[in-house]
Amino acid sequence: MVSFEEALAIVLAEAPALPGEEVALEDALSRVLAEDVLSDTDLPPFDRAAMDGYALRADDVAGAPVALDVIGEVRAGQWPDLAVGPGQAARIMTGAPVPPGADAVQQVERTQPLDEFRVTILAPVAPGANVAPRASEVRKGDVVLARGRVVDPAAVAVLASAGKARARVSRRPVVAILVTGDEIVDVAAVPGPGQVRNSNGPSVAAQARLAGADVRLLGVAPDRQEALEAALRPGLAADALVVSGGVSAGDYDLVEPALLDLGARFLFTKVAIKPGAPLVFGRLGETLVFGLPGNPVSAQVTFDIFVRPALLKMQGARVLERPRVSVELREGVKNRSGRKSHLPARVAFEAGRLVARPVRSMGSGDLAAHARANALVVIEADRPQARAGETAEAVLLGNFLEDDGAPL
Ligand code: AMP
Ligand code: MG
Repeated sequence: MVSFEEALAIVLAEAPALPGEEVALEDALSRVLAEDVLSDTDLPPFDRAAMDGYALRADDVAGAPVALDVIGEVRAGQWPDLAVGPGQAARIMTGAPVPPGADAVQQVERTQPLDEFRVTILAPVAPGANVAPRASEVRKGDVVLARGRVVDPAAVAVLASAGKARARVSRRPVVAILVTGDEIVDVAAVPGPGQVRNSNGPSVAAQARLAGADVRLLGVAPDRQEALEAALRPGLAADALVVSGGVSAGDYDLVEPALLDLGARFLFTKVAIKPGAPLVFGRLGETLVFGLPGNPVSAQVTFDIFVRPALLKMQGARVLERPRVSVELREGVKNRSGRKSHLPARVAFEAGRLVARPVRSMGSGDLAAHARANALVVIEADRPQARAGETAEAVLLGNFLEDDGAPL
């Protein structure tokens, strides 16, 4: 039995870096950049007016109100064909280049036109006011996005401004998913006596997709070794093969023998965590193999804490783990297992601090309870209980930011 930390280190050490590929900007969302992105231009590319108003010389209006001669207009998209001299001003629009001679823009609300050729500047402005100088944000050649960055909408804007109509990102890991269990029936079926619907196939596929994977569904295999081997074989071409169920100590938990028979080398078969102790990890040729416990909450949690970081590492992401925060427990929790626990919980910001309440759950089969969680409270193996009011660590789950705070 290895610890959580040892297991994660083993998994990450085995995860290979995938090659890069070029994608169109509109397909780059959520992908991991496989190159540093350099700006091919200064930003702003010219001294840019930040307000509609008048471009002028700040010295001229130190004793405002002052009347200036209006010598013309500069619009966004125009290159100025005028220069602002002493006692002069040019009407200017937001986004337009500040003409030579001017060193500030006074906003239109602080001016009063006298006629077409004269304006009263009502208040002084400091030199540089309302002007974004050329290259003050980004210099041509600067790294504006680093390799390993996950492309989010803000990064899309930076790629666009850097002229990257195509971006180099890591190839998606191909993840094959096999669900096992004689009792498992398709989502569309009405379960007969003793049967349950396949929820792990869809949930593991969803988690893999959110982690950037290209998913191949291998279906549902019965608890018979030859049938398992036949169903596993097409998964050996994938970067990662994720199997649900059949890895505990029962008589019909035949995933390990089936994988061994196919040539798998296991790096661990048990981790000191709760939920999820029977967690198998190894290699079969170039393919990483994960055998997740069949219990739906165990499958989701072990995917999140081991498979997801591995898939992100393959894509070269710099951040592999979810954010961890310190929370005050609003209810006590017990951890008599002697293993590191990840308890589904709700974390909220209350009266100036982050607080956590474990969700009421019947255990690692309770997928409905897990869907009410937005975080996992982590209780270390050597902490048999944590009381209300004590501090603990919480991992914020992917739904944390979108959570509306009112589950069910
Ligand atoms: P196992 O790990 O195969 O012993 O399964 C543990 C528990 O998880 C059993 O109650 C199974 O019925 C349940 N289970 C296994 N696979 C799935 C699945 N794909 N969808 C929903 N429940 C499952
Ligand atoms: Mg089973």
